[in-house]
Amino acid sequence: MSKVNSINRIVIMGGGTAGWMTAAALSKLLPKTHYTVTLVESEQIGTVGVGEATLPHLRFFNQRLGIDEKAFMRATNATFKLGIEFSHWAQIGDAYIHPFGDYGEGHNGVDFYQYWLAEGIADIHDLDNFSLPVALCNAKKFAFPSDDLSNISSTYSYAYHIDAGLYATFLRQFSEQHGARRIEGKVVDVKRRALSGNIESLILENGAVIEGDLFIDCSGFSSILLQKVLGVAFEDWSEFLPCNRAVAVATKAVDSNVLPYTKAMARDAGWQWNIPLQNRQGNGYVYCDKFISETQAIDTLQQHLNGEQINDINSLSFTAGKTKCAWKNNVVAVGLSSGFLEPLESTSIYLIQSSIMKLIEFLPQSQNINQCRTEFNRFMGMEMDRIRDFLILHYCATEREDSEFWRYVKHMQLPDSLGQKMAMYKSTGYIEKYQYGLFLTPSWQAVYHGQRVRPNQIDTRTTQLSDADRKALLQHYKEQVLRCVDGAHEHSQVLQKFLGSSQQS
Ligand code: FAD
Repeated sequence: MSKVNSINRIVIMGGGTAGWMTAAALSKLLPKTHYTVTLVESEQIGTVGVGEATLPHLRFFNQRLGIDEKAFMRATNATFKLGIEFSHWAQIGDAYIHPFGDYGEGHNGVDFYQYWLAEGIADIHDLDNFSLPVALCNAKKFAFPSDDLSNISSTYSYAYHIDAGLYATFLRQFSEQHGARRIEGKVVDVKRRALSGNIESLILENGAVIEGDLFIDCSGFSSILLQKVLGVAFEDWSEFLPCNRAVAVATKAVDSNVLPYTKAMARDAGWQWNIPLQNRQGNGYVYCDKFISETQAIDTLQQHLNGEQINDINSLSFTAGKTKCAWKNNVVAVGLSSGFLEPLESTSIYLIQSSIMKLIEFLPQSQNINQCRTEFNRFMGMEMDRIRDFLILHYCATEREDSEFWRYVKHMQLPDSLGQKMAMYKSTGYIEKYQYGLFLTPSWQAVYHGQRVRPNQIDTRTTQLSDADRKALLQHYKEQVLRCVDGAHEHSQVLQKFLGSSQQS
């Protein structure tokens, strides 16, 4: 068993988003009397360089570190994000928004959606009237959520679109201010302890030796410490999530009012993103190379760009999946080194944050490190499995058969866990109510509904309200949404006011 406080020297390998988020959190939140934080990165190798859409959890990460929201948004050219618009996913011409918030208000333990279904409304978009974040997106407006739980404005959250490269730079400064040490250099070798197999030190190209007690592998897709040195296997999920390539490019900002949401537009062999920042737009086509070539992907991307291209095309390859475990011996993989589920729904930065927060809970328990390692692996594995199912839902719940890619994903064999969830939903309308983790009931609801998956039966408890009372319940909510949207301002105006105001203060 490890001795109390045997982990003192923490070494992070890699300075991408994962490396600097880890360094920032550990240097700020762990006691300096017990821990030193050293980060090694190589400018020669560089970072992935994409990753611009985030989830609301990032706000809480920044808040926990005491990072000022305005300073962060200015430093990263950030805009607000209320959700993602999916177009052409169920059918060509379709569009729906997956918002960061609830639909309507349930009654007596029955979900709002059931009451909406009981109304028998044919128009799929009518549901938009019952989600304040969707209505704000449709109006291209933004308003901060309220803390008052009796107010409908408390039913949603928000995230950001950011320049992730600038976020890493911002966090580097923050980490160094909080005592983290950065070393520039390429790791070319690793020394291990004979008995335990633990890593003892990293050897740099210039011969420098960096010793540590715990190594955080943030080396990106190359997963040098976890997969290459410790030999942890990779669980390949490409049969369920076949997209394995992306071509990305930035374009000039074109709209005077920036969209408060990400766009995810289905294409013949995958999907294209559009992410609006203050100063530019990020664009990319995520595709499967079994169905189209890179040249075809670039052509498609360029045909659909809205705005002048301002840099060269960046090509990336990946395989969807996760490592069998993220923590082995004295190595914890955070970020792409522990797996990647493709960019749909922007989950990667969230997963980095989730790993870091677990580590911060567990590191001070170093006398129980074996249990902590087991629990960390269980928890992170479960996060990945659930996210995988949610992402697959976007592909398999399609009515499209117009290309080889869409025919494949429509008819592919699903993981049992997702097959069971979908069968249950289709027959009863039931969605599992997770207490924690990502993508809770409203998210599943948004995607099922948007992808035209309907339950075969409406919850009979909806009859506890008379037709008139049900209509009144819906009408009341709809009116509140309308009032809030009327009172809200254009996204760009809010941004300008928010980011401009503290410059004077
Ligand atoms: P990297 O950025 O690859 O960093 C690896 C680091 O390790 C670098 O600093 C490198 O120098 C260092 N390194 C590697 N080898 C060595 C060595 N031998 N010696 C020294 N240093 C070394 N995520 C989101 O949340 N939202 C998105 O919208 C999103 N979009 C994406 C789109 C695409 C196409 C892809 C591929 C990913 C996307 N992601 C997104 C994921 C996101 O990019 C990553 O989660 C994020 O960038 C973190 O990457 P990382 O830090 O793990 O790895």
